[in-house]
Amino acid sequence: RLEIRNLVRRFDGQTVVDHVSLSIAPGQVTCLLGPSGCGKSTTLRMIAGVDTQDEGTIHVDGSLVCDTVFRIPPERRSIGLMFQDFALFPHMSVGENVSFGLRTSASEKRATATRLLDRVGLAHYIDFYPHHLSGGEQQRVALARAMAPEPKIMLMDEPFSGLDNRLRDGIRDETLDLLKEAGAAVLLVTHEPEEAMRMADEIALMRDGRIVQQGAPYNIFNAPADKGAMAFFSDIN
Ligand code: ATP
Ligand code: MG
Repeated sequence: RLEIRNLVRRFDGQTVVDHVSLSIAPGQVTCLLGPSGCGKSTTLRMIAGVDTQDEGTIHVDGSLVCDTVFRIPPERRSIGLMFQDFALFPHMSVGENVSFGLRTSASEKRATATRLLDRVGLAHYIDFYPHHLSGGEQQRVALARAMAPEPKIMLMDEPFSGLDNRLRDGIRDETLDLLKEAGAAVLLVTHEPEEAMRMADEIALMRDGRIVQQGAPYNIFNAPADKGAMAFFSDIN
């Protein structure tokens, strides 16, 4: 379980993340939904450990990950990351990309890569290089790579925004299946209400650094807390 409490981040006196608290259970997908510049990526970066909060705490399964004095470094947080520019390593084969960073034997690495690539329907590409694959296929490889260390927490920042509509729905569903199977606690950032409605167990609406409403997608869609939230959902039906 991922728990963040009263996270605050300021840049040049501007409060960009303003007392954000979230609790995400294993197997649960929470969507952080909000307009450009509201502080979504900054929130994720602090959880990943590549940025440091000015206030607040992060716990995973009850253990402190960081507060304002104590910090577990990013590589030891057991947190998977998937971002929009998922950039596979071009000089490594698809299989090497997936197993990169695993601390096991070569044969175990290959077995893990095979299993995960098979799961996303790409086992036959294991010895190919990324540039041979389409964008959607590369995205699936990136998903397999993110899952390989079996992270308890998965952070995803607009991971599907580079894909065309036709590909996107399929990959969204596959991603959800894989994440649910793995029992990861997922925080998915998006500025598309439709994506949040489709993928989230819970939506946290963010605006100006604050979480203004939080709950099941259906409830938020039907009872937006204020005009801002309503406007945000008005373009889907
Ligand atoms: P988008 O949907 O466009 O990705 P976002 O919600 O992810 O937006 P953030 O990237 O978290 O937004 O940025 C929130 C605000 O913080 C922005 O105004 C941004 O300019 C500012 N900001 C982010 N990182 C820094 C930094 N390192 N230095 C100064 N300001 C920053
Ligand atoms: Mg962002």
